[in-house]
Amino acid sequence: MKIRVLGSAAAEAMPALWCECSTCKYALQHGGKDLRRRTCYLLDDDTLVDYGPDIFWQVTTFKVDLLAIRRIVVTHSHVDHLNPVDLLWRRPGFSVVSKTVKLFGNEAVTGSIISTMQRESGIDQLDKIALENQILEAGKPVQDGDLQILPLPANHAPREKPLFYVFTRNKRSLLIANDTGFPSQEAWDLLATEKLDAAILDCCGGAHPVHGKNRHGHMGADTNIEFRQHMLELGIIQENTPVFANHFSHNALCTHEQLCQYLEPHGIQVAYDGLAFEI
Ligand SMILES: [Zn+2]
Ligand SMILES: [Zn+2]
Ligand SMILES: [Zn+2]
Repeated sequence: MKIRVLGSAAAEAMPALWCECSTCKYALQHGGKDLRRRTCYLLDDDTLVDYGPDIFWQVTTFKVDLLAIRRIVVTHSHVDHLNPVDLLWRRPGFSVVSKTVKLFGNEAVTGSIISTMQRESGIDQLDKIALENQILEAGKPVQDGDLQILPLPANHAPREKPLFYVFTRNKRSLLIANDTGFPSQEAWDLLATEKLDAAILDCCGGAHPVHGKNRHGHMGADTNIEFRQHMLELGIIQENTPVFANHFSHNALCTHEQLCQYLEPHGIQVAYDGLAFEI
């Protein structure tokens, strides 16, 4: 499985457009790995994980062929992960679209898309924008073609049922754990039987002295270290399994370099926009 990180920021992106903090000033000036779009992933050439407000910039910068996309798997309905407006242009009269795309996510994800459709265009059926919907529930894996999707209950957004995922294809498995705080016992019980070939962890709080220890809603660098250690203890990963931190907030006040210095000694790599790897 080929994985491309299309975005590595939390909700406000980096730099946050109106922010006066030192990290945002640095990111604007230096660019490079400190310029972070909202979190999104491409798996092989056919699967998007999340579809946030930077999708135009991500598709054009990283040359993603959207015509090859067969499915979009959404973690939750927060606007940094789901931008329904850029699905509405799939409807007749706005784009030439012949291929249906499967949409996987919780009920809040479907609800957000439908309510935006109703408000913007008066239509209320996903097939009008050539989407085929499948609601996912934690602990109930689905098989779509040769891709298995295992949804896990996230410690995040209590008003809906947010999910994070293990994706398995050709006997290779990837964990994408954002957005979530340190998982519940229920989630660990589901994860415990998995053998991962790579893992990506929510690191919203970065290496900040307070936010780095976040356990609820999001994690930080210290929680990521604990997460990796727990996966090792449970035999979910091995010492050499690639583990990445991702979904960084500028409020953590960390540059990419500072995150690397903090996390790499603990066996965790720092993701950035455009990062590509294969498992
Ligand atoms: Zn987020
Ligand atoms: Zn800032
Ligand atoms: Zn969120």
